[in-house]
Amino acid sequence: MSGLVLKSISKTFGGTRAVDLVNLTFGEGQLTALLGPSGCGKTTLLRMVAGLEAPSGGVILLGDRNITDLPAHRRKFGMVFQSFALFPHLTVRDNVAYSLHISGVSRSEAADRAGKLLDLVQLSAFGDRRIGQLSGGQRQRVAIARALAQEPEVFLLDEPMSALDAKLREEMQVELRLLQQRLGITTIVVTHDQREAMTMADSIVVMSNGRVEQVGPPQDIYHKPENAFVADFIGKANFFDGVTEPGGIRIGATHLVADPHFVGGSPVRVAIRPERACLDEEPGANRLPAKITFVRDLGPIREYHLETAVGRMVVEYAAGEGGKIFHVGDTTEVRLPPDALHIFPDPTAHDAL
Ligand code: ATP
Repeated sequence: MSGLVLKSISKTFGGTRAVDLVNLTFGEGQLTALLGPSGCGKTTLLRMVAGLEAPSGGVILLGDRNITDLPAHRRKFGMVFQSFALFPHLTVRDNVAYSLHISGVSRSEAADRAGKLLDLVQLSAFGDRRIGQLSGGQRQRVAIARALAQEPEVFLLDEPMSALDAKLREEMQVELRLLQQRLGITTIVVTHDQREAMTMADSIVVMSNGRVEQVGPPQDIYHKPENAFVADFIGKANFFDGVTEPGGIRIGATHLVADPHFVGGSPVRVAIRPERACLDEEPGANRLPAKITFVRDLGPIREYHLETAVGRMVVEYAAGEGGKIFHVGDTTEVRLPPDALHIFPDPTAHDAL
């Protein structure tokens, strides 16, 4: 096998186009996160990859094999669902060994393989327990071991952490990523949690309304968003609407130095990450008078809310970064470095055309 390829995949339910002409390549041995808001089509896309849902159009290739019409049970794909879907009346070991029994593996070999898988997910000491006697994180590891029992070519996980509390979720993200890297198994994870995607993924696919908005490594998605939706969905951003003019952008009566790459007079949406705006004394373009309206001290991060001529914005400082301390009511200047400004065609102006 060499990767999984989706060509023009669509899915329509009645009048709803849940997935709309998606083209994607999932690299061999890589972990790809499908990320997007509720209802954007992530689960439907994953279910089509799994063979649990037939596409309305398009082709799915595994290496050079066309698997579009191959039934789920013949795909050799491992799947972990939100609910884990474990057998509560069986022991941990039997949950893992069960699928091996039914696929014809002898009882002793199934027990042997289940033992190795429980080792892999660090549950060897829990083999004789029943599912009801496990914590959420342990149940998730049983679900992972069970999915891996079939030695799947592709590993599919739908919101695998959603049943876990926040702290455990972060631990399991790291564990799952380390396990996936150790096994080198092609993996697709559906999530609506950007931190989860950024922690685990080699590549993130950002979706909205059944379409792919951007594909790339986590750092590219964060630092080089291709449109306003991605800039808004991944991380935090301040947004301003303006028009292009020679040498930059006009927002209300303010000219910002920038390199917009659009013809003059184009409506644009400008985004800047809170950590890229500066409350400092350094000379440079785009210094605007600012009034501090709110201060949020989050421990590792200090957040200033400002009022400026281009609108309200939030500026963030990491603790230890130094910088002057401001209080509500202080007036100062904020600097918006031209290379920190992301400039997109204004999506609302586009819709109006
Ligand atoms: P969530 O994060 O809430 O699970 P999602 O991104 O996984 O959302 P999907 O579950 O793939 O989104 O749903 C995409 C769209 O397709 C939604 O509008 C949903 O209502 C619709 N949909 C999904 N499954 C069905 C179905 N079996 N019948 C009808 N509509 C469906």
